[in-house]
Amino acid sequence: MELIYRSTRNANETATASEAILKGLANEGGLFVPDELPKLDMSLDELAKLDYREVAYQVMKLMFTDFTEEELRYCINSAYDDKFDTKQIAPLVHKAGAYYLELFHGSTIAFKDMALSILPYLLTTSAKKNNIKNEIVILTATSGDTGKAALAGFADVPGTRIIVFYPKNGVSPIQEKQMITQKGDNTFVVGITGNFDDAQTGVKKMFSDAEFGAYLAVNGFQFSSANSINIGRLVPQIVYYVYAYTRLVADGVIKAGNEINVVVPTGNFGNILAAYYAKQMGLPIHKFICASNDNKVLYDFFVTGKYDRNRDFILTTSPSMDILISSNLERLIYRIAGNDANKNKAMMSDLTSKGEYTITDEMKAELVDFYGNYASEKETAETIRKIYVSDGYIMDTHTAVAATVYEKYMKDTNDQTPTVIASTASPYKFTRSVMNAIDGAYDSRTDFELVDELNKLSGVKIPQAIEDIRTAPVRHTTVCDKEDMPLVVKEFLGI
Ligand SMILES: *Cc1c(COP(=O)(O)O)cnc(C)c1O
Repeated sequence: MELIYRSTRNANETATASEAILKGLANEGGLFVPDELPKLDMSLDELAKLDYREVAYQVMKLMFTDFTEEELRYCINSAYDDKFDTKQIAPLVHKAGAYYLELFHGSTIAFKDMALSILPYLLTTSAKKNNIKNEIVILTATSGDTGKAALAGFADVPGTRIIVFYPKNGVSPIQEKQMITQKGDNTFVVGITGNFDDAQTGVKKMFSDAEFGAYLAVNGFQFSSANSINIGRLVPQIVYYVYAYTRLVADGVIKAGNEINVVVPTGNFGNILAAYYAKQMGLPIHKFICASNDNKVLYDFFVTGKYDRNRDFILTTSPSMDILISSNLERLIYRIAGNDANKNKAMMSDLTSKGEYTITDEMKAELVDFYGNYASEKETAETIRKIYVSDGYIMDTHTAVAATVYEKYMKDTNDQTPTVIASTASPYKFTRSVMNAIDGAYDSRTDFELVDELNKLSGVKIPQAIEDIRTAPVRHTTVCDKEDMPLVVKEFLGI
């Protein structure tokens, strides 16, 4: 049976999986969601015998029903290959009382690789299936990690171009260097004088600008998105929750059917939403523990039922979570509103006009599986240092936000359920903040000296992604105001 995707803002706008992947965003700013979440049709015990690629196939075949088996296996096998530095793709590491699901073994050393290494294949396959002749322009806003992972995925992919907007002063030095040294004739990287929300809003505006869309079409282009608003990003993220669960079964930590918790360092709400979808597909998850940094909009939301972005945007040492408008929360709102597009749309227009909306008590009751909390900058640094000292394990700042929140959750509940913490970036990507957390004296060193020091302390091999940028020349220097984003796009496309 074909799974239908529908806009969260208009019940009459539907798409097949491949159409939804191609479009990225629905009209009027809506997001595509599946009408229902299909149940896993292989038992958890059987899934525990499979490797990452096979688990990926078992999940994706249920969600991308208009792809043939051959097409899906081609996409999966092309994505999850030796671009990853371990055959396990997403290893599960038991440290300090939790299971760290290391999602950073891909080519740009952040969890975005888990989805962005397959998205180009899903997208070009979707284009072929739908007889699209236009060149596809991937328009992306990034808080640092999506940009590089999308650039790496789409560089020199025929029939595509990619434009990435990042907040000029809102990413780590290594993140910026990774992006502005990107190779590939079809790549374009732009710093904007604004924050991530400005970049994301600017990109969404271009998507919903029908006139702009028509102008592109006349010139042989069409937009798509590599942000987690694209269902082609979200579905590959369901896979690693199923995989992590089945590793715990395979290792005898749990029996098939037992519950686990997941802790997710959250920004745009894509990663944790994928865990929520995994549960709806039948994966036994007890709590979704949503970890925020000082930009704790989501924590406040889970406590009060009011989403309120009217507050200062705080730059933290976990920049990929410096977000006040968590786009994918809309998919959850739609679901807890009983899949009611009108109800959801009203709340989203409140968010645009007033910067806030409040859910009903009935909707709030649907959120019992979620627990929200946040970590301050000081707590985050302390966690990095503490777990380094106790276990010799060095984690990045985002993962440390999650580990801190897990500690708070344990204090609040004493829940002994085995818990998987999504480890979303390599510590090498946020070397300065990580090393400063361990010892303030490191701050006088250069970024690459710190890389070598981190290597000495952790004994973890320096990733190729870091070696690559030590000497790479800068290829992208464009900076623009947020108002000028459409101009920059036209210029790059030569139209
Ligand atoms: C993107 C990112 C996050 C946030 O993930 P969302 O899916 O946006 O919630 C957390 N940590 C790192 C390292 C990231 O790159």
